[in-house]
Amino acid sequence: MNKEGHVGLSMLFTTPVVLLYPGEIYDLGLWIWICFFIGMSTWPDLDLEFEMKHRGYTHTLLASIVFGIIGALIILHALPEHTFTAFLGGITGTWSHLVGDLLTFMGFKPLWPLSDKEIALKLFRSNDRRINRLFGKMGVLTLTLALIGRALK
Ligand SMILES: [Zn+2]
Repeated sequence: MNKEGHVGLSMLFTTPVVLLYPGEIYDLGLWIWICFFIGMSTWPDLDLEFEMKHRGYTHTLLASIVFGIIGALIILHALPEHTFTAFLGGITGTWSHLVGDLLTFMGFKPLWPLSDKEIALKLFRSNDRRINRLFGKMGVLTLTLALIGRALK
């Protein structure tokens, strides 16, 4: 899955969270989680930038914890009361990425180091422009409608 697909998928996952969030839609904690969740949903593909093995260590359960810690460190000094929220955003954003890549053909080990099992659901090619664009558009549409619906309540 490419960047557009991952951001769209994470926006799709954000939609029910926005709809079911029990607090006010303007809560800073919700928005911090959304920013880290959607923003860090593309981080595992940093392996492409640093010429590491693609879908190797950055596409694992362990990496999600590392990205969560990085999220926490990013916000620690500015908003220490939201450190755990940023940590959760980083972890779950990475999981969103792993779910997106699991739908494609190229297998990897998302549960490493707990399991060495390589998984791929092989539903579409990761560089399929139409599917990635579809995820992107569906994510923008559903999240926008959810935010407008909550704001008008
Ligand atoms: Zn990836």
